[in-house]
Amino acid sequence: MTSAQTTPPCPLEPAGPPSARPQCPQPQSPQPPRVRGAHLGTPLEQAHHDRAVLARQTAPETHGGPHVEDHALIHPAGADAPVRLLGVDGSRIATRDGALAWSDPVAQLPEDAVMLGIRDGARLAARPVCEEDPAAEGLDLTDARRLALGLGTEDAGLVLTAVALIAWATATRFCPGCGSALDVTSSGWVRRCPADGSLQFPRVDPAVIMAVRDRDDHLLLAQNRRGRLTSVLAGFVEPGETLEAAVVREAWEETGVVVEEVEYIGSQTWPFPRSLMVGYRAWTSASRLRPRLLDGELATARWWEREELRRALAAGEVQLPGRSSLGHALIADWLGAPLE
Ligand SMILES: [Zn+2]
Repeated sequence: MTSAQTTPPCPLEPAGPPSARPQCPQPQSPQPPRVRGAHLGTPLEQAHHDRAVLARQTAPETHGGPHVEDHALIHPAGADAPVRLLGVDGSRIATRDGALAWSDPVAQLPEDAVMLGIRDGARLAARPVCEEDPAAEGLDLTDARRLALGLGTEDAGLVLTAVALIAWATATRFCPGCGSALDVTSSGWVRRCPADGSLQFPRVDPAVIMAVRDRDDHLLLAQNRRGRLTSVLAGFVEPGETLEAAVVREAWEETGVVVEEVEYIGSQTWPFPRSLMVGYRAWTSASRLRPRLLDGELATARWWEREELRRALAAGEVQLPGRSSLGHALIADWLGAPLE
């Protein structure tokens, strides 16, 4: 909401109902920057919203609730525009013939929908849907991680935002302070407690993911107790901690390896349900120090040489994380070649 509070009012926008206002020029939203230094170029890390083209829209007459509020992201274009809905079921997105299945236009933003933005004269919104829902008839539900790989940056950004917002909206129905049912405001982006006025905003949980190398450039890979995948170490950032401190702590807690140097390598939104993955290369001066599985989260952890990992992959002995993940990109970065 910081940007909402600091966005200056449009100088061309006089008072009056939206329909009576002249068209205000759409501000141009900047593209994501080039990141200096090493950059992995993972498929999803450039996913983004054009916040100008896809400006969130809030207007009392379009949502109907008693607590709908205006904010500075409002743009007169599209105040009365038709709404096109995209169904979301957990981490799956409604598709038809492999493409995003936007609904036919409807006049009103449904109560359970969350606004994504404006494009081609229509308001775009996400809404929960499930296989039993009549609205899902004739549609496929496709995993967003796989789907987003084949989309452009704007559609990938829309899909990932849709998954994140619907997960948050589904889980955020009651006030954490007093337990009252929350009202939906700001086209679904804010929820307000009718009893105490407190506000709930969508949350993002930062997590670090790091390729730990030893003095001889072996790579530390581990297998989680809960899954079959072999990957680099990762963990959530804890309160009061920097990203770099989280890299060091997680490596120590999970394997007993002391990380002494880190290099930021890129980030990636990972809304399953609400992570932001921050990727690092990391180094220890030890050499093939035997990992100790200290906190019980890992089933196995060991150091790999490049040729050894290539052979194991070719023989199907290890299964790495999917191509859309930072973990996959970090392992390919160490190998020095793309992974198939
Ligand atoms: Zn409350």
